[in-house]
Amino acid sequence: MVDYKKIGLVNTRKMFAKAVDGGYAIPAFNFNNMEQMQAIIQAAVETKSPVILQVSKGAREYANQTLLRYMAEGAVEYAKELGCAHPEIVLHLDHGDTFETCKSCIDMGFSSVMIDGSSLPYDENVAVTRKVVEYAHQYDVTVEGELGVLAGVEDEVSAAESHYTKPEEVIDFVSKTGVDSLAISIGTSHGAYKFTPEQCTVDPKTGRLLPPPLAFDVLEAVEEKLPGFPIVLHGSSSVPQEDVDTINKYGGALKAAVGIPEEQLRKAAKSAVCKINIDSDSRLAMTAAIRKTLAEKPAEFDPRKYLKPARESMKKLYIHKIVNVLGSNDKLLEK
Ligand SMILES: [Zn+2]
Repeated sequence: MVDYKKIGLVNTRKMFAKAVDGGYAIPAFNFNNMEQMQAIIQAAVETKSPVILQVSKGAREYANQTLLRYMAEGAVEYAKELGCAHPEIVLHLDHGDTFETCKSCIDMGFSSVMIDGSSLPYDENVAVTRKVVEYAHQYDVTVEGELGVLAGVEDEVSAAESHYTKPEEVIDFVSKTGVDSLAISIGTSHGAYKFTPEQCTVDPKTGRLLPPPLAFDVLEAVEEKLPGFPIVLHGSSSVPQEDVDTINKYGGALKAAVGIPEEQLRKAAKSAVCKINIDSDSRLAMTAAIRKTLAEKPAEFDPRKYLKPARESMKKLYIHKIVNVLGSNDKLLEK
């Protein structure tokens, strides 16, 4: 049993309470490799932001969860070396699918886990979430549950259709399970293809696809039922068109990739939404930089030469999200 506090990680309790009060959201960035982790930590330290490092099922399969856990321990020391005396870094399991997965992450030092029972019948979702909370809270690990279904594909998580969260269920779910935060479905979606062209309208100025707006009425109804309770948004990449264009210019073939406009996320961050998950945007930033470098320097074969611009590009993206979208800069509890 590894005590996450001994390796310098924190859970989400205090940072979420402060974020809900302060009208901003904490970034939850997925990581799978060293360059991504370096970019996240550099961005968090430079902006003095708390940060959630997320590990998905796909990341655990790709990189190995033990290795990722030690990278997070390294991230704490790396942040201190970069000049942050009291880093606030959460190591979070994204979309835990069973009690056993959540338990294994808690046992190896994760400070926060998500149990995603949203595809189960309501009573089964309550039962498995309750079981994870009972185990996690013995070790002061915080737990995120989910109600409602997001469309889209992200690693192993996929659903063809979204179902908005039913506001009438949230009080019962939170009181029966004891979860610390709740992911809801209000029209965000996993992956880089969040909406089909038929669901979008065309911007007459740019000719680009505009996605349907988020269901802020559902969010407001949830906030009314659970005042001040931490709410989480998944699938909240914005799919920057510059990166899509760069990828396509240098040999890529991304068609009609559409994300959530940043002004909608900015509005959500000011509400009880206190954690916003961003994964696809960093994949796009990394891929765009690698494609561009390799196309411009075809003789290059040192991975450091194309991963360095990729890391810089991801860092720029993370800083932009923290400062211009979520507002979590300068929000550390201790200076
Ligand atoms: Zn998700």
